[in-house]
Amino acid sequence: MAYDPDNIFAKILREEIPATRVYEDDQTLAFMDIMPRADGHLLVIPKTPCRNLLDATPEQLSAVIATTQKLSHAVMRAFGAEGVTIQQFNEEVGGQEVFHLHFHVLPRHEGVSLRPPGNMGDFDLIAQHAEKIRAALE
Ligand code: 5GP
Repeated sequence: MAYDPDNIFAKILREEIPATRVYEDDQTLAFMDIMPRADGHLLVIPKTPCRNLLDATPEQLSAVIATTQKLSHAVMRAFGAEGVTIQQFNEEVGGQEVFHLHFHVLPRHEGVSLRPPGNMGDFDLIAQHAEKIRAALE
Protein backbone atom coordinates (compact mmCIF):
# COMPACT_ATOMS: atom_id res chain seq x y z
CA MET A 1 0.00 0.00 0.00
CA ALA A 2 1.28 3.46 -0.91
CA TYR A 3 1.93 6.29 1.54
CA ASP A 4 -0.70 9.04 1.31
CA PRO A 5 1.05 12.41 1.82
CA ASP A 6 -2.31 13.97 2.74
CA ASN A 7 -2.86 11.84 5.85
CA ILE A 8 -3.59 13.86 8.97
CA PHE A 9 -0.19 13.32 10.62
CA ALA A 10 1.62 14.44 7.45
CA LYS A 11 -0.48 17.62 7.68
CA ILE A 12 0.53 18.02 11.34
CA LEU A 13 4.21 17.62 10.33
CA ARG A 14 3.78 20.33 7.67
CA GLU A 15 1.96 22.49 10.26
CA GLU A 16 -1.10 22.65 8.02
CA ILE A 17 -3.24 21.61 10.99
CA PRO A 18 -2.51 22.27 14.66
CA ALA A 19 -1.26 19.75 17.21
CA THR A 20 -0.20 20.00 20.83
CA ARG A 21 3.49 19.19 20.42
CA VAL A 22 5.50 17.99 23.41
CA TYR A 23 8.86 17.00 21.93
CA GLU A 24 10.75 16.89 18.66
CA ASP A 25 14.21 16.14 17.34
CA ASP A 26 15.65 15.83 13.83
CA GLN A 27 13.89 12.56 13.10
CA THR A 28 10.79 12.36 15.30
CA LEU A 29 7.84 14.33 16.69
CA ALA A 30 5.68 13.63 19.75
CA PHE A 31 2.26 15.26 20.21
CA MET A 32 -0.86 14.72 22.28
CA ASP A 33 -3.57 12.35 21.04
CA ILE A 34 -6.75 14.34 20.41
CA MET A 35 -8.90 11.48 21.79
CA PRO A 36 -6.90 10.46 24.86
CA ARG A 37 -7.58 7.01 26.30
CA ALA A 38 -5.56 7.94 29.40
CA ASP A 39 -4.35 11.26 30.81
CA GLY A 40 -1.08 11.98 29.01
CA HIS A 41 -1.85 9.79 25.97
CA LEU A 42 0.54 10.90 23.24
CA LEU A 43 1.75 9.76 19.84
CA VAL A 44 5.31 9.46 18.50
CA ILE A 45 5.91 9.64 14.74
CA PRO A 46 8.87 9.76 12.35
CA LYS A 47 9.28 13.03 10.45
CA THR A 48 9.89 11.11 7.23
CA PRO A 49 7.07 9.29 5.42
CA CYS A 50 6.14 5.68 6.08
CA ARG A 51 2.76 4.06 6.39
CA ASN A 52 3.38 1.81 9.39
CA LEU A 53 5.73 -0.81 10.85
CA LEU A 54 5.54 -2.87 7.67
CA ASP A 55 7.25 -0.37 5.34
CA ALA A 56 9.36 1.54 7.90
CA THR A 57 13.14 1.46 7.53
CA PRO A 58 15.33 0.26 10.42
CA GLU A 59 16.47 3.88 10.83
CA GLN A 60 12.90 5.17 11.16
CA LEU A 61 12.03 2.43 13.65
CA SER A 62 15.16 3.01 15.67
CA ALA A 63 14.51 6.76 15.93
CA VAL A 64 10.82 6.36 16.79
CA ILE A 65 11.46 3.71 19.44
CA ALA A 66 14.19 5.82 21.05
CA THR A 67 11.76 8.77 21.29
CA THR A 68 8.98 6.45 22.51
CA GLN A 69 11.26 5.30 25.34
CA LYS A 70 12.19 8.90 26.21
CA LEU A 71 8.53 9.98 26.29
CA SER A 72 7.55 6.87 28.28
CA HIS A 73 9.91 7.93 31.06
CA ALA A 74 8.59 11.50 30.81
CA VAL A 75 4.89 10.53 31.11
CA MET A 76 5.64 8.22 34.03
CA ARG A 77 7.37 11.10 35.83
CA ALA A 78 4.70 13.64 34.82
CA PHE A 79 1.73 11.55 35.97
CA GLY A 80 3.32 9.44 38.72
CA ALA A 81 2.46 6.39 36.60
CA GLU A 82 3.49 2.89 37.62
CA GLY A 83 3.71 1.64 34.04
CA VAL A 84 3.17 2.52 30.43
CA THR A 85 1.30 0.82 27.57
CA ILE A 86 2.68 1.18 24.03
CA GLN A 87 0.27 0.51 21.16
CA GLN A 88 1.00 0.37 17.44
CA PHE A 89 -1.47 -0.74 14.74
CA ASN A 90 -0.83 -1.82 11.14
CA GLU A 91 -3.32 -1.52 8.28
CA GLU A 92 -7.08 -1.24 8.65
CA VAL A 93 -7.66 -4.82 9.80
CA GLY A 94 -4.87 -4.32 12.33
CA GLY A 95 -6.75 -1.39 13.84
CA GLN A 96 -4.84 1.43 12.11
CA GLU A 97 -6.85 4.58 11.34
CA VAL A 98 -4.14 7.10 10.42
CA PHE A 99 -1.66 5.83 7.85
CA HIS A 100 1.59 7.42 9.03
CA LEU A 101 3.61 5.25 11.44
CA HIS A 102 2.84 6.12 15.05
CA PHE A 103 3.34 4.65 18.50
CA HIS A 104 0.80 5.38 21.25
CA VAL A 105 2.26 6.11 24.71
CA LEU A 106 -0.28 5.58 27.51
CA PRO A 107 0.69 6.12 31.16
CA ARG A 108 -0.94 3.52 33.43
CA HIS A 109 -2.00 3.38 37.07
CA GLU A 110 -3.00 0.38 39.17
CA GLY A 111 -6.72 -0.35 38.78
CA VAL A 112 -7.34 2.32 36.11
CA SER A 113 -8.57 0.99 32.75
CA LEU A 114 -7.98 2.70 29.44
CA ARG A 115 -10.96 4.81 28.37
CA PRO A 116 -12.86 3.65 25.26
CA PRO A 117 -11.44 4.93 21.94
CA GLY A 118 -13.07 7.62 19.83
CA ASN A 119 -14.02 10.24 22.42
CA MET A 120 -12.71 13.75 21.82
CA GLY A 121 -10.67 15.07 24.76
CA ASP A 122 -10.99 18.42 26.51
CA PHE A 123 -8.61 20.83 24.76
CA ASP A 124 -7.60 22.77 27.89
CA LEU A 125 -6.96 19.58 29.86
CA ILE A 126 -4.85 18.13 27.05
CA ALA A 127 -2.84 21.39 27.00
CA GLN A 128 -2.28 21.12 30.77
CA HIS A 129 -1.15 17.51 30.42
CA ALA A 130 1.23 18.47 27.61
CA GLU A 131 2.80 21.11 29.84
CA LYS A 132 3.41 18.53 32.58
CA ILE A 133 5.11 16.25 30.05
CA ARG A 134 7.29 19.07 28.70
CA ALA A 135 8.33 19.92 32.27
CA ALA A 136 9.17 16.26 32.96
CA LEU A 137 11.45 16.24 29.90
CA GLU A 138 13.57 19.12 31.23
P1 5GP B 1 -4.64 4.41 15.12
O1 5GP B 1 -4.33 4.70 13.67
O2 5GP B 1 -3.43 4.09 15.91
O3 5GP B 1 -5.71 3.38 15.29
O4 5GP B 1 -5.30 5.70 15.75
C1 5GP B 1 -4.98 7.00 15.38
C2 5GP B 1 -4.93 7.88 16.62
O5 5GP B 1 -4.77 9.20 16.17
C3 5GP B 1 -6.18 7.84 17.48
O6 5GP B 1 -5.80 7.56 18.83
C4 5GP B 1 -6.80 9.22 17.33
O7 5GP B 1 -7.38 9.69 18.52
C5 5GP B 1 -5.59 10.05 16.92
N1 5GP B 1 -5.94 11.17 16.06
C6 5GP B 1 -6.76 11.13 14.97
N2 5GP B 1 -6.82 12.34 14.38
C7 5GP B 1 -6.02 13.16 15.10
C8 5GP B 1 -5.69 14.54 14.97
O8 5GP B 1 -6.11 15.27 14.09
N3 5GP B 1 -4.82 15.04 15.90
C9 5GP B 1 -4.31 14.28 16.90
N4 5GP B 1 -3.47 14.87 17.76
N5 5GP B 1 -4.61 12.97 17.06
C10 5GP B 1 -5.46 12.42 16.16
